[in-house]
Amino acid sequence: MTTVAAPCSRLAIRRFASQIRQRSGLDETVYFPVMPFLEQTLVKIDPQFTLEVCDMHEMGSCHGLTTPSEHKIKLREDIYDGACNGRGRDRFTVAHEIGHYFMHQPRSVSFARTGTGKTQVFCDPEWQADAFAGELLIPAHLMRGKRVEEIAQACGVSTAAARVQQKIINR
Ligand SMILES: [Zn+2]
Repeated sequence: MTTVAAPCSRLAIRRFASQIRQRSGLDETVYFPVMPFLEQTLVKIDPQFTLEVCDMHEMGSCHGLTTPSEHKIKLREDIYDGACNGRGRDRFTVAHEIGHYFMHQPRSVSFARTGTGKTQVFCDPEWQADAFAGELLIPAHLMRGKRVEEIAQACGVSTAAARVQQKIINR
């Protein structure tokens, strides 16, 4: 059984992330304030939204968990702390969960057994959430032509995430 989301191209995800930035007045801001967005802005967009910070005991190896039908994002406490402190990897995890939250409302996700047993990448919710996180944290229109180190520093992401997104932006 695989989870299949409505197909969404990289470009569509870029446009969506860019809309979110624009509506928050952040289209010219390089460093996306992911925690203020999570803790203050999201609840203005969806008054039912709740953030739950859970301990290691409850979350285990899971860094974050989003249940759109319950309007809820759960974060493991070390990930929450890391993201608050600007740690790139944890900021990316938070942006990834925000991606699930917006893109994978119950109607757009289904559990399907596909013929080949393989999910098309554009329909894979994990691919989509990663693509969203990359586009939200590393805006293409501001970071085109920049070096990996510059991107990592300016956008508050890990070098690995900066490298992946740099290739995508400049291709
Ligand atoms: Zn995920």
